[in-house]
Amino acid sequence: MLGKMQEHITKTLQEITENGLNKNERILTTPQGARIRTQAKGRQNLLNFCSNNYLGLANNAQVIEAAAQAMQQWGYGLSSVRFICGTQELHKNLEQKLSDYLETEDTLLYAACFDANGGVFEPLLGEEDTVISDELNHASIIDGIRLCKASRLRYPHGNMKELETRLSQSAAARFRLIATDGVFSMDGDIAKLEEICDLAERYDAIVMVDDSHATGYIGERGRGTPELTGTTDRIDILSTTFGKALGGASGGCISGKKEIIELLRQRSRPYLFSNTLAPAVAGGTLKVLEILSETTELRDRLTVSAEYFRKKMVDAGFTIVPGSTAIVPVMLYDEKTAVKMAEQLLNEGIYVIPFSYPVVPRGKARIRTQISAAHTREDLDEAVKAFVKVGKASGQI
Ligand SMILES: *Cc1c(COP(=O)(O)O)cnc(C)c1O
Repeated sequence: MLGKMQEHITKTLQEITENGLNKNERILTTPQGARIRTQAKGRQNLLNFCSNNYLGLANNAQVIEAAAQAMQQWGYGLSSVRFICGTQELHKNLEQKLSDYLETEDTLLYAACFDANGGVFEPLLGEEDTVISDELNHASIIDGIRLCKASRLRYPHGNMKELETRLSQSAAARFRLIATDGVFSMDGDIAKLEEICDLAERYDAIVMVDDSHATGYIGERGRGTPELTGTTDRIDILSTTFGKALGGASGGCISGKKEIIELLRQRSRPYLFSNTLAPAVAGGTLKVLEILSETTELRDRLTVSAEYFRKKMVDAGFTIVPGSTAIVPVMLYDEKTAVKMAEQLLNEGIYVIPFSYPVVPRGKARIRTQISAAHTREDLDEAVKAFVKVGKASGQI
């Protein structure tokens, strides 16, 4: 009986619509890629600038083949959690290959990075401990922290002085853990891992980095923000997803110091109480790691393309949040302008998404574009051309 709750839900839904916060699914009729098709009238053919398919591997023939082969060899599913009867050689192999790739001691698979972050804090930290978290950390880190009993402190985004203050404030804690995204999804900026590790060392804290938006392409060999910042040996816990650059299917992991991984194997609830990663996904992810270990071609192409697109957009007169990642936010500030421009870009065949409050601060609305190695130079030029047309028409440039 929904009863009076029904009224409440209806009212909430109305408020969401009235505030322009509705999230509507656009239905694709193709695999993920640079060029996609959707069901929407007049928008059947779109050039995609809003997926996390950074390396263009989401529809890669070799990856699909490897996934299909893994399914043939290992079956469709395990119908078990890992510790009962859900671990195959395939899963152990993937954990080993992830540790090799990330240059860590050991790795534990999860159904998603959301689950990895949901299960990493609670086994490690108790009431006597403190987690110190960047205010812009991903929702899954925030939720994971909520599930543990440690005290919580937040510091303003990227503010190392304030982080240090939190560290001195929490001197009485048994253990302190600093948690940060490696690449932050809204601005595309990179955590100051060197400074964070220095502070952690000085105040005897451990460091956890979620590299979901970085693994596979940030750093010279694509190993992520620890590689870029030269902190690989100083990060205690790394979480990441297979759902972005690493093929985009699903799954995630916690990787890091072997004692930590072993304790998670014993105690981490999403690992203990949720089904094993499907063999097809494990096989596909293994192939992705093999490709990325053989050549840096894709991440090199992505780096060049992102730089090219940034420069073209700045030259055209747009305000781009400065940075070096494949996340290129086009700042429009005004909420309505961002929504309207994204609509007009869709009409031009460019698929982009406007972000406004509460996802980003009020008055900081933007269109977040994401570059992919799947984009050709012509794709990038076409997008810039559309941005210029729409930007001029609306007086933005
Ligand atoms: C995307 C993302 C996640 C969630 O990953 P899933 O594997 O899709 O659950 C977690 N953390 C960060 C920082 C992300 O960007």
